Amino acid sequence: MLPVVALVGRPNVGKSTLFNRLTHTRDALVADYPGLTRDRKYGQAQLSGHNYIVIDTGGIDGKEQGIDLEMARQSLAAIDEADVVLFLVDGRTGVSSGDDMLAEHLRRQDKPVFLVANKTDGVDALVAASDFYSLGLGDVYPIAAAHGRGVNQLLSQALSPFLQDWSDDNEHTDSDIDEPVIDEEALAEKQAQELEDLPIKLAIIGRPNVGKSTLINRILGEDRVVVYDMPGTTRDSVYIPMQRNERDYVLIDTAGVRRRGKIADKVEKFSVIQTLKAIEDANVCLLVIDARMGISDQDLSLLGFILNAGRALVLAVNKWDGLTQDVKDEIKRELDRRLGFIDFANVHFISALHGTGVGHLYESVEAAYSSATKRISTALVTRILEMAREDHQPPMVKGRRVKLRYAHAGGYNPPRIIIHGNQVSALPDSYKRYLMNYYRKALEMTGTPIRIEFREGE
Ligand code: GDP
Ligand code: GDP
Repeated sequence: MLPVVALVGRPNVGKSTLFNRLTHTRDALVADYPGLTRDRKYGQAQLSGHNYIVIDTGGIDGKEQGIDLEMARQSLAAIDEADVVLFLVDGRTGVSSGDDMLAEHLRRQDKPVFLVANKTDGVDALVAASDFYSLGLGDVYPIAAAHGRGVNQLLSQALSPFLQDWSDDNEHTDSDIDEPVIDEEALAEKQAQELEDLPIKLAIIGRPNVGKSTLINRILGEDRVVVYDMPGTTRDSVYIPMQRNERDYVLIDTAGVRRRGKIADKVEKFSVIQTLKAIEDANVCLLVIDARMGISDQDLSLLGFILNAGRALVLAVNKWDGLTQDVKDEIKRELDRRLGFIDFANVHFISALHGTGVGHLYESVEAAYSSATKRISTALVTRILEMAREDHQPPMVKGRRVKLRYAHAGGYNPPRIIIHGNQVSALPDSYKRYLMNYYRKALEMTGTPIRIEFREGE
């Protein structure tokens, strides 16, 4: 369950400011494919350790013409995609005619809308908010996006139905009040057992036209698998159960290959939200890149989302047919240069069109999945911690050495290693990176991000 929150409102009310605060901007995916304007931005944010998606829109004020009209269309599309809408107004200027228009549209929607009066810093928040009750959208939430005031309360409120779901998921973790100590190790073990019995959920991810449909058809054709058409709306990815090398898979088709019904055009077919949801739901993501287009910003954004979600990763550089050696060499150099930071993931050069290299993808997918779900025993990760410490001691902080005592598993897919010690918050990033690399080598993990977390005390 990956909730989607849309930010809408007139230009200049502070949507981008709020977006940046929620997502820390780094991973904004700007959907500037033909037909999608730059004005819809997608970012990943977190509340109480759970991911959600934020969509920022350019703004809408009801007087749009020309390019602005397209912008308005994007706002409406974002509302359509969202589970929750945050309608921002300017708490310093009071209601304007653009607000009326959007309020009316939102009142007709069958989805939760939160009316947010922004820029209430330095003014009386309640007085500023009171003007907006006339919009007929109920409570007004005063915030100051630029300073963060009121933002957490707002999001906790807006996402509370999902928080409820999330805590239902983890009933065994926090429902038992008599037992305050959560046994993370036991939970991790339970998760690992569950993962063992399930098929590998493999999402085929990539921008439009990189060859996802061709690849999926190739995979399905070659495997002569029993394919069930699973019902779903055009909004959802299609889930296709299949088998390969006696392993059960569920292929998550974001390209709509198996979708019934007519799809107007390519761009219509590509939905960022659908892609982000597929990433969240997958165990392994196969990121398809078009060799002929090089590595684009969107490829990097998608990669960022995959890594943020902690998913295992395999890269497929597609359309590798008919390229000269010079071009191939150049592409490989570009990959080294720009994707050096994911050197833990396997890269395959394939031709979905001709089938070249496609069969070998499974080896990497399975390797990535088994790395992501490989049991981490307390004895082993503690031993590795000791070795890492012997090779290179943690630094001194204020005359005392940071102590790292022992480690254990905190979860899988992605593997989480919890390290207990003293003064761990003072541990510099360079030493954290060192530990990360040390663990990656020692545990022989390919194709999955690893999370290392530190706990103070026993
Ligand atoms: P957008 O067009 O809705 O995305 O609005 P922006 O995020 O670009 O903000 C428009 C202007 O309002 C910028 O100059 C921001 O610095 C300012 N702004 C945004 N949030 C706040 C706030 O909480 N307080 C104040 N005083 N100014 C803000
Ligand atoms: P999608 O939008 O990612 O699903 O991309 P498609 O599978 O529809 O492919 C887009 C275009 O690229 C089509 O014209 C395909 O025939 C072409 N294409 C896909 N894979 C290959 C490949 O391996 N080599 C070449 N030369 N063309 C390909």
